[in-house]
Formats: sequence, C-alpha cells, structure tokens
Amino acid sequence: MELVNLKDASDTASFSQAIVRGLGKNQGLYFPTAIPKLANMDQLLEKPFVERSIEILHALIGDELGDGVLQEVVEQAFTFPAPVEKVSDDIYTLELFHGPTLAFKDFGGRFMAQCLSRILEGKPVTILTATSGDTGAAVAHAFHGIENINVVILFPDGKISPLQEKLFSTLGDNIHTVAIDGDFDDCQAMVKRAFDDKQARDELHLNSANSINISRLLAQVCYYFEAVSQVPENEREHLVISVPSGNFGNLTAGLIAQAMGMPVKRFIAATNLNDTVPRYLKTGEWDPKKTVATTSNAMDVSQPNNWPRIEGLIERGFVDKDVLKGESIDEQYTQMALRQLAQAGYTSEPHAAIAYRSVSHDLAPGEKGMFLGTAHPAKFRETVENVLGQPISLPKILADVAGEDSLAKKLPADYEALKKHMFDTLKGNA
Ligand SMILES: *Cc1c(COP(=O)(O)O)cnc(C)c1O
Repeated sequence: MELVNLKDASDTASFSQAIVRGLGKNQGLYFPTAIPKLANMDQLLEKPFVERSIEILHALIGDELGDGVLQEVVEQAFTFPAPVEKVSDDIYTLELFHGPTLAFKDFGGRFMAQCLSRILEGKPVTILTATSGDTGAAVAHAFHGIENINVVILFPDGKISPLQEKLFSTLGDNIHTVAIDGDFDDCQAMVKRAFDDKQARDELHLNSANSINISRLLAQVCYYFEAVSQVPENEREHLVISVPSGNFGNLTAGLIAQAMGMPVKRFIAATNLNDTVPRYLKTGEWDPKKTVATTSNAMDVSQPNNWPRIEGLIERGFVDKDVLKGESIDEQYTQMALRQLAQAGYTSEPHAAIAYRSVSHDLAPGEKGMFLGTAHPAKFRETVENVLGQPISLPKILADVAGEDSLAKKLPADYEALKKHMFDTLKGNA
C-alpha cells in the first residue's frame, strides 16, 4: 500500500510507516494513492465478517505485514459482531457497540493495537491521543498491557460522561490519563503541538492513535460491507447511510467502502450543533465556530480533523460530491428522535438519534435508510434516562467500573504543563 501526505506530495509512506508516524510532515494526513475496486461483490458480501474483512484489508494494504499476519490481526481484533436491526419499515440501524468498550471505536482501536505491536517488534512507543469520549476507552483497552507501549490520553475535564471517563481512567499500568481544563479542540491542539515538538517526538517516540491514524480508518471500512451484507439484495442500491459525525473518520471509511465498489446510494453527514461541515456543504464556506457542548459529546468538534481526507476522496474522483449531504440536529430534535425510537421499541442514545433524525426526514420514495449506532445507550445513561424518563440497565463492563476511582491527572490547557508531565512520568520507561 502506498500513501501520500495530503499537504506534501513528496512525503509518501507504506502502511507500516504511516501507522507508526500517524501524521506526516506539516501535520498532513496520509491518504491512499489508489483505492482498489473489489471484484465479485455479491460473493464477497456473502462471506462471514472476519473472512470478508481480511479480503478487504488485503486489497487495501497488500502483503506488507508478512505471511498470515493480516489474517491473525483481523481475527484478534474483530472478535464481536456488527448486527443490523430494523427499527421501522424503511429504516435500519447498524449496531457498532458490541465490543469491549461499547462503541464503534473498538474496531479501529483494536486493529491498530494489533498491527502496531507487530510492526514495532518491541521498540518503545508513546501513544498520545485526545478523546471526546469513546476513543480514549477503545484505545486504552486495545493497548492495555501491551509491552513497550505507553498510552497518554487527554480528555476535556467534566465534558464527557462519568461512565465514559471511568472506562479508560481506571485501568492504570501503561495507560496514563490526563483531564484537561478545556474543550476537546484544546486537547486536540495540544496533541498537535506535541507532534510538532521535535524533542517530545524523538525522546518519547510519539505516535497518535487518533482517527487520523490510517489503520483505524481502514478497519472501519470493513463494517460498512458488513452492514450492506445484512440488507436484502434488492435494497442495497437504494440505501442511504447516515453517519453521526465528529472528526469524520467514520464517514471517511464509509466513502472509501463506496469507492471500493460497495453498493450504497448516498451518505448523510449528521452532526449536532457543531455544524461546520453541513454549513460548508450548503454554502461552500469553511467557517468553524466555537465548539459548543451538547449531549452527543463525542461529536462536539468544530474543526474535524479527517475532513481533508473527504475532500481528497472527492477531488481525486474516488467518490462523487453528490453522494454527500449534511444535516445538523439541535438538542431538542435529538431528544425527540430518542423518544420516537423508544416508541418504536428501540432504545438508542444521542449520537445515533441524530443520525436517525437526519435520515428519517430525508428519505425519498424508494430509498431505505440506515443510521450507525456508534455507542451503547448505557454509555450515555444520564441523558437517555432523563429524556426517556425510565431507567436503563448497565452492561457488565460499565457496572464493573462504575464504583472505581478515576486515576486521571488534572492539568490546565497548556502544552508546557503537559510536556513536563509526560517527561516526568514516562522518561526512563519510554
Ligand atoms: C467518535 C464518535 C462519533 C464520531 O465519529 P467520527 O469518526 O469522529 O466522526 C460518533 N458517535 C460516537 C458515539 C463516537 O464515539
């Protein structure tokens, strides 16, 4: 596989190089120079999830990981299903929350951890990542206990749900968590600063596990095929997939799946009030506003870091601009959507509800909708219980961490403070 830096065409990388580097020069994102079209789509869609995913990833990545390694990685990463449920006559949901931290980020996080630990062959690395909630948990669990890899997770203090925080801040060992007095964009900016800091980069061997890491994106391509495979054949060409979006990694993966030949009609980029992309798609003007806090906090992002990849897909002709539409849903409509779904017998959570609302009001005659269920409702228990007025039960993994203490270190939104903290705690064992 060959990747090119979207900001500097002379900076190219193999998959193994791109996964280790995370970002390229000038903080540019790596992007595939070619996207293979898959043959025999109907046959491919009939295969079981893991077997099909190995084929998809092999087509993208090629043989560079070595004999049998890709197969091993996928088998160890994708150990849980991605079922499609019908919520009404015309609308399905793809449930991506059956992994160990109950959110879709388990797919990418686990695939990345398995790939990276093999590519590094024991060389020390510090994974530095910012999370608006679910990334932290997925990355922490995926890397917990892997030798020679330290993980530092920044999150906006008080802006993610208490249970979400507990899921990653209670692990300890090689997992170091930092509560930043700021919002998610501040956290993301501090991560970028660290990657610009040669001393930190070299001495701590920094790597990012954000959705900017190409490995996470490629893993996510696989579950779109799994989604389509569960829809009746005659509906696939009429499918409208609505993706609850924050940093837009998930949507990027869906568009790559389409570029590889997966049958689907179009996509909806569904956001909360942080609507930079829906406004951009309407007006052509990129005008990020200050991030606002919402109940769908994993999508409280006003400067989505994967957007250049979507532009890249369009500019290079891999996908057509017209397949993408934006929708922004406010808090009131998010709550209405949650209640509507509950009336239909389906308990959801705010992120998926936004995607549901976006697609249910946008379907043309003959189209079928599918919204991605990006997290388990219990991860957003407070909101869901408030809106629905009834208690929901906690899955075992959440019940287990609920009573434990957070080990997170509190820091101001100041890069020098973070740098000092990292050197104090990691130098020597990094
Ligand atoms: C991360 C996350 C999103 C946003 O995904 P992106 O790939 O960043 O667009 C949506 N919903 C939930 C529950 C998430 O954790």
